[in-house]
Amino acid sequence: MPTETFEFQVEARQLLQMMIHSIYSNKDVFLRELISNASDALDKLRIESLRDDSLDADVSDLHVEIEPDREARTLTVRDNGVGMSREEVVELIGTIAKSGTAELLSRLREAKDESTAEGLIGQFGVGFYSSFMVADEVTLVTRKAGESEGTRWSSTGEGGYTVETVADAPQGTAVILRLKPEDAEDQLFDYTSPWKIREIVKRYSDFITWPVRMAPEAPAAEDTETAEAATPEGEEGAEGEKPAASAPPEPETLNSMKALWARSRDEVSDEEYHELYKHISHDWTDPLETIQLRAEGTFEYQSLLFLPARAPHDLFSQANRRGVQLYVKRVFIMDDCEALVPEYLRFVKGVVDAQDLSLNVSREILQQDRQIQLMRRRLVKKVLSTVKEMMTKREENYATFWREFGRVVKEGLLNDPDNKDAILKICSFASTGDKERLVTLAQYVERMKEGQKHIYYMTGESRTAVENSPHLEAFEAKGLEVLILTDPVDEVWVGAVPEFEGKELRSIAQGEAELDTEEEEGEEAKAEKERRREEFAELLTWLGERLTDEVKEVRLTSRLTVSPACVVTDAGDVTPALQSLYRAMGQ
Ligand code: ADP
Ligand code: MG
Repeated sequence: MPTETFEFQVEARQLLQMMIHSIYSNKDVFLRELISNASDALDKLRIESLRDDSLDADVSDLHVEIEPDREARTLTVRDNGVGMSREEVVELIGTIAKSGTAELLSRLREAKDESTAEGLIGQFGVGFYSSFMVADEVTLVTRKAGESEGTRWSSTGEGGYTVETVADAPQGTAVILRLKPEDAEDQLFDYTSPWKIREIVKRYSDFITWPVRMAPEAPAAEDTETAEAATPEGEEGAEGEKPAASAPPEPETLNSMKALWARSRDEVSDEEYHELYKHISHDWTDPLETIQLRAEGTFEYQSLLFLPARAPHDLFSQANRRGVQLYVKRVFIMDDCEALVPEYLRFVKGVVDAQDLSLNVSREILQQDRQIQLMRRRLVKKVLSTVKEMMTKREENYATFWREFGRVVKEGLLNDPDNKDAILKICSFASTGDKERLVTLAQYVERMKEGQKHIYYMTGESRTAVENSPHLEAFEAKGLEVLILTDPVDEVWVGAVPEFEGKELRSIAQGEAELDTEEEEGEEAKAEKERRREEFAELLTWLGERLTDEVKEVRLTSRLTVSPACVVTDAGDVTPALQSLYRAMGQ
């Protein structure tokens, strides 16, 4: 196939412009992104070769190699992983398939300062394109495992890229960066320095399960001689395999490959945990919480889970997968193991490493596996109890968590009846009782008025809509607190949660929710009511007849203080907001 020239897709072009003229101070992360891609490619090849024994691929020494060249001012990151076909290169590297990119770009343009912009990029993830922060030309040479021809992709990041077929590419992918000349004098961006590379790999990629090696710089011939002459008689000498004087020097392995989840918490720094999180989640921001969990005994496993600090843009789209990876005895098995986390915790990221599963487990088998189910139950409990702990010990983190993920967690009230109580305890809501802060059900109950029996709430589209509702008047007048529920999911879960700690949840927009205090009214008040009922009987009958197609019943109420009338539904009926939700869902 001839060399083809392609234009970048508009969104890709805009993103690249931002990378090229990068204002982001932390350029080092490009290397993390490239190593992360290489590591993913190695994982994929290993799994592929397990699945397909006829695959013509070499899996004997899977690794990542980094090769700095000071003279040429290039840096190459190479892997012998799964590689890409020509079509895949065009599809994966030439376009940005991620659905949120357009949104990212528009928000980047609105971003007021650098740190917001950086945060946004972190939230959406930039991956391979981050190479253009440090390089003015990027070349990628790749050959897909099992295929005979390779592909060479090259771009300066401006405008377009070229793609050509190459005959002699080794299996896997090499990314060759031509480092920006303007950074040449800057120590901070000296990506040909072995010292710098060691530092970055240690910092960001230490836990990568494949060896990340650095090719030694080609030293002058005499240096090699001296270095080898100086090698003490060690194991190598004993084996009699001392390399000949002409053999190339050994590459250096830069990462420890230690599984962080297998180490005890006090041995591992927060930063190390955070880097693992970033690798798994493709997020650039630190997580909010790190949760460690291990089980010994008959079914042994270790787990590290993370609560992100920010909801991804696609939290509610079908594409949002769950980010818990499954390992078996340190070997990566699969991403997004949905058998391990319920949908309402789909934002949880992390690793579960089990000792006694087969390396060939499939997703279907996992769904049925009793041990996996036990594990899942424990993970869920642990996540919920961690959030509970955050509420009291790290209030700010909890507030962030709830703002970002509360809407999703509440789905659990419907879908996970076993944990309903635990979930209710970590919920918090807007309320008429406090304009600034959210209130938990426990707090609500604690400040209930004397004689108040129920927990009152009202659902609606927004706080203002609820506050302007005539339903609220009497409650306000009597100083009764009402929870303001404005998330779409609120319409649904309230139906599944009849009570909290013996207190019934009642919608103030529904028929039964007359004020508690009514029952304690004296004889006089009752007589007064009776009198009013008689007085208005004729009007009520007339209204009832006129509105016969619109309403079930017209009655007098004590719930209004200012408005003349309001519409209520019977308890158990579909509320107007729920009707519109159903309509939105096409039901
Ligand atoms: P992400 O890793 O989040 O998917 P990237 O921009 O980092 O996004 O990479 C885009 C895609 O390009 C990857 O998903 C992968 O399919 C492909 N890719 C990138 N680097 C490699 C590599 N070294 N080997 C094989 N495929 C790669
Ligand atoms: Mg990537």
